[in-house]
Amino acid sequence: MIEITDVFKRFDENEVLRGVNLTVRDGEIFAVIGPSGSGKSTLLRIVNLLETPTSGRVLIDGTDIHAADRQLSIRRRMGMVFQKPVVFSTTVYENVAAGLRIRGVNETAIRHRVEEALELIGLADREEQNARTLSGGEMQRVAVARALVTDPVLLLMDEPTANLDPIATETIEDLIRRINRDYGTTLIITTHDLLQGQRLAHRMGVMIDGAFAQIGTPREIFSEPKTRSVARFVGMEN
Ligand code: ADP
Ligand code: MG
Repeated sequence: MIEITDVFKRFDENEVLRGVNLTVRDGEIFAVIGPSGSGKSTLLRIVNLLETPTSGRVLIDGTDIHAADRQLSIRRRMGMVFQKPVVFSTTVYENVAAGLRIRGVNETAIRHRVEEALELIGLADREEQNARTLSGGEMQRVAVARALVTDPVLLLMDEPTANLDPIATETIEDLIRRINRDYGTTLIITTHDLLQGQRLAHRMGVMIDGAFAQIGTPREIFSEPKTRSVARFVGMEN
């Protein structure tokens, strides 16, 4: 479904991505793991059309997303959740409805979908509360719900739990699993936390210095690291 081929990205003299190759399958949770500064966020931002690759291609269902003249419609099929939860100073309800309003969805459908999403994230009884008064974990759940109500085929999450405590992290991880299982949504999640990758992902890719040093199931990555750099990264966390 998503095919990333020979993607390079340079910022001035700094070559951040150096030949990224990856295929993500429909319905899978794929974790991009790797040390800080290895290029994980840059890769996600390229897939979400927030950055353009210096060279290489990203195909979604066969369409080169950066060459396409319908980038907006491609972008509308994706949701993105950032490390720092983005919430607006308005009600929880309106925060979740935001993505539907810009798509011109009618009020009845908006109410239906927002209420379903609030139920899913466990904040149905808080819809009138100002989202800025929520805890960090609750704000991140609101950000997830906002991305989810637009029914994305692909959900991108950049270190979604990096700022959260262990309990809130567990809640978000549980939410990620349920979204994948109940809606069949394909997810790409970046994390510097190898164990989170192991807990969540069907497959994961270890990014070292701007390219995947190894891609495989968590079990394969842990038991058969293919390079010394992967072994070092895996070993560090054990
Ligand atoms: P990670 O998410 O793995 O920590 P990033 O993709 O955020 O890594 O960053 C990789 C490298 O790219 C870092 O050295 C970072 O400073 C650099 N970088 C990221 N975005 C930009 C940008 N917009 N301009 C210049 N350098 C950038
Ligand atoms: Mg990052």
